[in-house]
Amino acid sequence: MRPLYIEWETLSRGWRDGDVVSEFILTPGFGLGMADKASAEQDLIIVGGGPAGLTAALYAARAQASPLVLIGEVAGGQAATTQEIENYPGFPDGIGGPALAQQMQSHAERFGAQIQFDSAESVDLGTYPFRVRTRTGEYTARTIVISTGSSPRKLGVPGEARFRGHGVSYCATCDGYFFKDKRVLVVGGGNSAIDESLFLTRLASQITIVHRRDTLRADPVLQERAFKEPKIQFVWSSVVEEILGDQEANAVRVRNVVTGETSTIETDGVFVYIGHVPNTKLFEGQLELDERGYIVTDRRQRTSVPGVYAAGDVQDPIYRQIVTAAGTGSAAAIEAIRFIDQHKYEENTE
Ligand code: NAP
Repeated sequence: MRPLYIEWETLSRGWRDGDVVSEFILTPGFGLGMADKASAEQDLIIVGGGPAGLTAALYAARAQASPLVLIGEVAGGQAATTQEIENYPGFPDGIGGPALAQQMQSHAERFGAQIQFDSAESVDLGTYPFRVRTRTGEYTARTIVISTGSSPRKLGVPGEARFRGHGVSYCATCDGYFFKDKRVLVVGGGNSAIDESLFLTRLASQITIVHRRDTLRADPVLQERAFKEPKIQFVWSSVVEEILGDQEANAVRVRNVVTGETSTIETDGVFVYIGHVPNTKLFEGQLELDERGYIVTDRRQRTSVPGVYAAGDVQDPIYRQIVTAAGTGSAAAIEAIRFIDQHKYEENTE
């Protein structure tokens, strides 16, 4: 964060809306917001503060580009909602998701990245410099790195939206504690479903995994652990058709896709882990997206608009690992710095 310089007079009489504090201004309802943000052109704005965005911030900050990171509500993206990360190199004993996110943020800040707990609400990539409007202001930028990640895919069945927060969850790390000594049901057969089911064995009394096929997609090491875990049972070749309940979810109706039979399974909670959808709504119509909505990039993380780069899950339908997100974040920052340098050189030689 940039230091705040506050007039002694202001401090001694207390804050009032409209008080100017160096380049910051106190605005009604928002407390501190940057004054005249639109005029403060940034070399690089990074939209999204997961592993891709924070790594891009680290690389850009070390190149003295003083990147502005619009991090949203919390740092770390989906990685921060993961209980234990065992496959990020350098941590042989594993590291908690929130701890890794915090370390990444501190690392970027140490070299001068400006972290803002703010979200982009709209972007205009059709003008140059680009414009980014957030909850609290507007910025212009010579380059942008998009690292907005992805969000959990929804089942899209009756009862899912109604019972969200009342027995339906997409984050066992966040909500698992509410199901201490209770029965839960997990939907999905990938790494997330199995990882989070194993985490839930610490809390819940019984975990039922409902998967639409008869084999799991998860890595063999996770499968082996799940098959050995006495609290976990499987319902194979079945899809959830409805989540039932009263005030809270208390059962799901499932259909066996082979036999067509339907049955009801009683449960206290439903955790949905059926993949992700990229967070690209802001960029629709402005950048090339693939048929699933992921941003199309080349091997240098360049998007269809020169000066705009994308990194991490928002452009990666295949690997979606923390380490690959970090890798593409570093590449995007390196490319953005080259772009800025080239433009400044051309401006100075015109
Ligand atoms: P994923 O690998 O895409 O798995 C999604 C699972 O949900 C699949 O089993 C899929 O079934 C099922 N599914 C998809 N749509 C469904 C629907 N409409 N109804 C019912 N089931 C449905 O997603 P993920 O598990 O969230 O993992 C995302 C990425 O993060 C992956 O690359 C994964 O390797 C990575 N990850 C890694 C770790 C780790 O390394 N420890 C942990 C978590 C995540 P099918 O199998 O039939 O397609």
